[in-house]
Amino acid sequence: MLDGGALSLAPRRPRQEGRLKLYDLIIKGGEVIDPAQGIHDVLDVAVLGGRIEKVGKDLDASQAREVMDAGGQIVSPGLIDLHTHVFDKVTALGVNPDAVGVNCGVTTVVDAGSAGYANFGGFSAFVASQALTTTFCFLNVASTGLCLLPEVSDWSDLDIEGTIRVAKESGNLVKGIKLRLVGPLMTESGLEIFQRALTVAEATRLPLMIHIGDLGADYGERRALTRQVLGLLRKGDILTHPFGAKPGRVIEANGEVLGEFKSAVQRGILVDVGHGNGGFSFEIARMGLARGVLPFTISSDVSALVIESRVYNLPVTMSKFLNLGLALEQVIEMTTANPALALGMSDSLGSLKPGMPADITVAGLVQADWEFQDSAGVPLQGNVMFAPVATVKGGRAIPADLLRLPVNGRTPPPLSPRGRGDKGGNTR
Ligand SMILES: [Zn+2]
Repeated sequence: MLDGGALSLAPRRPRQEGRLKLYDLIIKGGEVIDPAQGIHDVLDVAVLGGRIEKVGKDLDASQAREVMDAGGQIVSPGLIDLHTHVFDKVTALGVNPDAVGVNCGVTTVVDAGSAGYANFGGFSAFVASQALTTTFCFLNVASTGLCLLPEVSDWSDLDIEGTIRVAKESGNLVKGIKLRLVGPLMTESGLEIFQRALTVAEATRLPLMIHIGDLGADYGERRALTRQVLGLLRKGDILTHPFGAKPGRVIEANGEVLGEFKSAVQRGILVDVGHGNGGFSFEIARMGLARGVLPFTISSDVSALVIESRVYNLPVTMSKFLNLGLALEQVIEMTTANPALALGMSDSLGSLKPGMPADITVAGLVQADWEFQDSAGVPLQGNVMFAPVATVKGGRAIPADLLRLPVNGRTPPPLSPRGRGDKGGNTR
């Protein structure tokens, strides 16, 4: 730090050329897809001081301290996973936020209800503030979040005043309120518990995320509760697990979509995939997509139960939707611009607009025979994987981890952050 005993506060000049560069980093020649700005073109992206400086054609690479060749790759705003479980080492479900974040192309993760007001302090101090990945939280109305399941098994598990207080005091980290319609108490008192959660959401002016689907519940009772709740959700509230197959679901086994769900979507509720250990069925998703049920956000709901199988991470979840027929632009919109809107953060997240934080994902589309699985382990044969090769987080480039799914029983090809992963699959 101290060179020759003198501490200089003058700006350091780059030694090689004797003058300052215009950019810290240029990502050169990638196919830039930024749905928030309606951009889809081969362009360069320049970064300075941890922020997006410029997006344009043929930017002067000699003006950058570092150049990343993205020829043949997709360059998008940093991906946002709106539904994860990253209360690592405190809840049994928790995974490390960077393992499902910057290590695989995701620059922002949102924990959906792992923490409640009583243990939020630990989430803030030991998880969010330690992660390189931007980590937000939807605070569970259950006092200790998802430490013990079901989290609302007694009225004493709820402390509305405490939840409101912590959410209000933690506005930079708490971006929503979470309630799962799960457990025996929901059968008798589900609507009343929902109304308490709504009270918290109203008092804190935050969106409410509702988990539907409860394996242990009576089918008819849970469907009635889902219908009542759908009638009360507000514009901007989030319903997660629309393509799940458990009691309380919104798409029936015959493909029929609940009328209350259609009305709620028209009213402006946001539909979040929330794949996870139990929230996603290929069969239901196919029927839903065919009947016009489009997710607003694609999210992984990754947890310790599924980080090494079926779900893995957000890019694998996105790839499932590519193989189910959604366009690449749609899938990127559902993981950048749309989750930023759901968080009320479109001014600072989810786009490559100049001045925004330089959160960027560089990915290849790897053509190979991939086998995907839904929550129940039902397979889907696909031929394309959206595979991040590099993450840029606040201007800093980080190689993205290799995807570890079997490709015809083989290990997938190494993907270089500087070029094409052309030793096996074909990337573009
Ligand atoms: Zn979840």
